[in-house]
Amino acid sequence: MKSITVIGCGIVGLTSAIKLQEKGFEVTIIAKERFDKTLSSKVGAIWFPFEIHPKKEANKWAALAYQEYLQDVKEGNGVALIPFITAYNSESNTDWTNLLTKETVRKASPEELPKGIASAFISTVPLAEPLLYLPYLFNRFIVNGGLFKEQKITSLQEASNLNTLVINCTGLGAKEICNDDDLRPMRGQILRCKKMDIPSCADSTKKGALSYVINRSTDCVIGGTDYENDWNTNIEKSDTDLIINRLIDGGLSRKKPEILEQLVGLRPKRSAVRFEFDENYPNVFHNYGHGGAGFTVAWGCAIELAKFV
Ligand SMILES: Cc1cc2nc3c(=O)[nH]c(=O)nc-3n(C[C@H](O)[C@H](O)[C@H](O)COP(=O)(O)OP(=O)(O)OC[C@H]3O[C@@H](n4cnc5c(N)ncnc54)[C@H](O)[C@@H]3O)c2cc1C
Repeated sequence: MKSITVIGCGIVGLTSAIKLQEKGFEVTIIAKERFDKTLSSKVGAIWFPFEIHPKKEANKWAALAYQEYLQDVKEGNGVALIPFITAYNSESNTDWTNLLTKETVRKASPEELPKGIASAFISTVPLAEPLLYLPYLFNRFIVNGGLFKEQKITSLQEASNLNTLVINCTGLGAKEICNDDDLRPMRGQILRCKKMDIPSCADSTKKGALSYVINRSTDCVIGGTDYENDWNTNIEKSDTDLIINRLIDGGLSRKKPEILEQLVGLRPKRSAVRFEFDENYPNVFHNYGHGGAGFTVAWGCAIELAKFV
């Protein structure tokens, strides 16, 4: 059996590893952090192609991923289909709505619009709760015969020396390994709160004033920020206040949320997801830079990867 090494144990590494196993490869994951310490473990995560390029490919991957999530709607693994309200304006790219059927997306009527949102779509989309879904995926990988090794890779040369085909799924970590100037952080601060009686919704129509609510099985994630090129991983009180004020001033809630935990994550943003063989190290394939949509597209990338490897 042929061997493959996947570097990275976030949503992109795990889904890539599983699809390659299903294709008959023996897969080892090498990562400096296991799934529970990754960026992927901290986030929402809702199906929505936010801050990812190129749009055409991202939409294709998102459509494939949507179908894959349908097969994973199972008790206890954190995947569910939920109603989600997405604000839009004349500048919004709404191509993603074409990926859904007329049963799963429509324009919201005026009575359905949350306060502060002028126009929106209501869709039925996958929610993948990382705290349940990543352990489920990791276990699936191990049960399929996968091996995991905790190790930091410092260069492309070192990755290439692994002497197997290597899939680079290191997210923002690829900046160091690949000296990639195009890869940059987009900082997101979020509040994990007690469940609230407000609909799951997102308003990304105002740059720098991202606002969203994701209701999960036992808590609620309220966001957020979308600061470009910001490496700050500290929780900023000013951002906490901003997030709460937008929720209340925007009219979504009258009550202040009860915060359980505050988190900061850096989205691995790139002008285009790097999804290609390396030109100097032909046994290395890159799969990183999925911006604010790693969960939305990871399965789609994994399916495509397994097709041509
Ligand atoms: C606040 C916030 C909210 C978000 N919400 C959503 C959402 O609702 N829906 C959605 O689709 N997306 C969302 N995202 C985006 C999503 O979280 C990312 O796109 C996704 O987690 C990226 O996954 P990844 O596997 O590429 O990277 P990561 O999860 O960062 O995993 C990278 C892996 O590579 C390993 N690694 C890195 N460098 C090295 C190295 N040198 N050697 C060895 N291993 C290495 C790490 O240890 C880790 O295991 C959100 C992001 C943020 C910040």
